[in-house]
Amino acid sequence: MIIDSHCHLDRFYKKGQLDEILQRAVNSDVQKIVAIGTNSDDWKIYQKLTNDYAGKIFYSVGLHPTDIDDNWENVLSEIASYFENNPRPVAVGEIGLDHFHLPKDLDSAKVIKATQVEVFKKQLKIAKKYNCPIVIHSRNSFSECVELIDQNGVDWSKVVFHCFSDGPDEIELLNKRGGRGSFTGIITFKNAQSIRDAAIAQGLDKILIETDAPYLAPEPFRGKPNEPAYLHHTAEYCAKLFNLNINEFTKQATQNTISFFNLNV
Ligand SMILES: [Zn+2]
Repeated sequence: MIIDSHCHLDRFYKKGQLDEILQRAVNSDVQKIVAIGTNSDDWKIYQKLTNDYAGKIFYSVGLHPTDIDDNWENVLSEIASYFENNPRPVAVGEIGLDHFHLPKDLDSAKVIKATQVEVFKKQLKIAKKYNCPIVIHSRNSFSECVELIDQNGVDWSKVVFHCFSDGPDEIELLNKRGGRGSFTGIITFKNAQSIRDAAIAQGLDKILIETDAPYLAPEPFRGKPNEPAYLHHTAEYCAKLFNLNINEFTKQATQNTISFFNLNV
């Protein structure tokens, strides 16, 4: 069994494709999925899906840095009700900083960056309150994210930098603190040697894998829409990277995912 530890199911759901997507996932041994929230619209969908597909779909709630608008305070105020009603989220996320999608105008970029910091801090506080795992989105902002997490005193063992796209030096900084990275299909790309080095440096006992579908399809589907079934390719690739057979690798990655998110499986 493989678990997709980070996926955005809302698009499949809205297109009425969810059942076929889940069936194809199961056919590729991807039995369970953590649906990751980005905004209040998808939180609602994921709570319903977690209820309808109990034990198969789990979910997180968090306001993604590129989804922040003027209404963000109201949006954050909804998070508590998810943690206080069943089915509960397994994590806060994905939250963090995105310095990649910024406007060219420096003044507006500055304002957006400052708001991202404020929203990130508030959500770290929420995660601390519920003592739950935290899924970090960090794009061109690795050291800023690390610094804010340090400052806010959250338990680093509950922190995952999803779609880890930095290198071995950065993973070392996470290792030192007890945090970790999670790896998408990018690890299969030809030019991704530093990401492979980072995965090795982190080690098998902490590895998590994810699709981030519908984004970032692994080889041989690079550039096409991604789906949970394709996680199989990433798992096979990682098994080779760690010199294991596919069953040995998926057993470990699955165990890591269950214990990190505290999944009730
Ligand atoms: Zn994502």
